[in-house]
Amino acid sequence: MKLASIETNGKTRIGVIQGDRCIVLCPHQHRVPTDVGSLVSSVDGQHALRELAEKGWDGLESVAISDVTIVAPIANPQKVICIGTNYADHAREMGGEPPEIPVVFNVFPSAIIGPGESIRLPAISHKVDFEAELVVVIGKPGKHISRELAMDHVFGYCCGNDISARDWQKGKPGGQWLLGKTFDTFAPLGPFVVTSDDVPDPQQLDIQLRLNGQIMQQSRTDQLIFPVDYLISHLSQFVTLVPGDLIFTGTPSGVGAGRTPPVFLKPGDQLAVEIEGLGVLANDVIADS
Ligand code: ZN
Repeated sequence: MKLASIETNGKTRIGVIQGDRCIVLCPHQHRVPTDVGSLVSSVDGQHALRELAEKGWDGLESVAISDVTIVAPIANPQKVICIGTNYADHAREMGGEPPEIPVVFNVFPSAIIGPGESIRLPAISHKVDFEAELVVVIGKPGKHISRELAMDHVFGYCCGNDISARDWQKGKPGGQWLLGKTFDTFAPLGPFVVTSDDVPDPQQLDIQLRLNGQIMQQSRTDQLIFPVDYLISHLSQFVTLVPGDLIFTGTPSGVGAGRTPPVFLKPGDQLAVEIEGLGVLANDVIADS
């Protein structure tokens, strides 16, 4: 199931994406929350949704996707956890070696934007880069989760873009990546969440990033050094994972900073992250005002 948070007539609603059309669910009539971020922690809402699906959505009208505004599927998670250098080829292009334990950092939820929203280039950075990433959406709480049971904790998956100000990520603030990664608008997410039952193996997905239509990153998630089940188990040794938590799983090679000469974002650029089965996350780039 492809679930989007949409805005229509000034209200946020859950939209079930079917091709180029969208079934808009009513919280009262269909007993579901108003957005995907609320649905992930609503057992009743998920139950109601499954019942509607089993009935084949009969009688429910759909609208053209072009007639609604898709926003970030999950706008305010408790945690946005990011994994660094989780593809060996990306580790090497950045001048390092593949890590032996996951490199973990975080960004604030305030960095999240939805598809179609603009990435704003901060005036204090001149090296803003892109990173196509598979994002895991946690659906079940847990601590000390075993690798064997880890996938039971996944609600679904979506595309993410880990926008990175390289001149603030490294070198300036004591080796901490946070500031370079968490500028407002630096975590585009979407366009929808595909539930885990429709993603049999998250390690078998093509992942691509296009900059102004040109392919810059092209890989497959089977190249992840630490796969999804490992990451969930590992992270849960430190923190309790809760529904809605996001895990950005890392990016493959081809980022702007790894190129000769380097390529950094400028106003007017168009970015598109596409992951097999998870849609296209498109965002433009503007100067911050
Ligand atoms: Zn990243």
